[in-house]
Amino acid sequence: MSRFAYINGKFVPHSQAHVHFEDRGYQFGDSIYEIAAVVNGKVIDEDAHLKRLDTSLKAVHISLPLQITNLKRLIREIIELNRYKHGYVYIQVTRGVAPRGFPFPKNVHPSIVLTMRPMKQIQTVKTHEKGVRVMTVEDERWARVNIKTTNLMPAVLAKQLATENGAFEAIFVRHGIVMEGSSANIFAVIDGILRTHPLTSHILGGITRERILSLCTKHHVPFEEKAFTLEEFYQADEAFITSANVLAIPIIQVNETKIGNGNPGPLQKRLQDLYFEFMQE
Ligand code: PMP
Repeated sequence: MSRFAYINGKFVPHSQAHVHFEDRGYQFGDSIYEIAAVVNGKVIDEDAHLKRLDTSLKAVHISLPLQITNLKRLIREIIELNRYKHGYVYIQVTRGVAPRGFPFPKNVHPSIVLTMRPMKQIQTVKTHEKGVRVMTVEDERWARVNIKTTNLMPAVLAKQLATENGAFEAIFVRHGIVMEGSSANIFAVIDGILRTHPLTSHILGGITRERILSLCTKHHVPFEEKAFTLEEFYQADEAFITSANVLAIPIIQVNETKIGNGNPGPLQKRLQDLYFEFMQE
């Protein structure tokens, strides 16, 4: 089946989705991106993703080169063109193409790219039903990771290290505190309470994290947005990671330590079920 991308005003075959080498996104990572899951043709938490896109763009002084309503229309179109029932929409907005130089160029026009890839099946996450092992790494990222920029070198290196060590995800630890994964937020059940790092500039405010918390509120599951240490993580009864990509995968081992009894926990299972129900509503 043909795949299509949208590049600066045109839908083109995915294989021809090129950007200029002087695009500042390419040269400096001077750009912002979003990834949202699409289930049964519907973008999950679309408004929240677009709001985060807008917030990140404002933080780096890039303006969205079109109205939000038009962006929503393009998202509809790319889903229809690609004909994936379930998939992921990727959006990237860069400061634009200009001769190389750090200061913002004058009269530059932001570039926008949309692509889509299929999700094998909504139950993809079930392949991780038995849980995954994660590895901790020192958080060497900059201090404003709440902005979703494409400057992802520390995440690339951390994930590569995890992969080489047979771990599914790298978990960033900063001064002994568990922050988040290279591309997912993290939750742990500690002394019976579900905990996740509070929103600060040291983690990305995940849309899936937010949805899980609102499902907790709706279903009377107590939780705390309170950071936990690596020591507490080792002692946790259960843990899981969340993102638009992985949805909600149980963690059964961190480094050499088993989480709980080494099996996915009941709260993770319940929240994952609630999240799946929500996605399919
Ligand atoms: N943290 C980081 C660093 C990420 O890259 C992601 C994935 N975008 C997340 C958390 C999860 O965010 P979301 O739930 O919006 O996919």
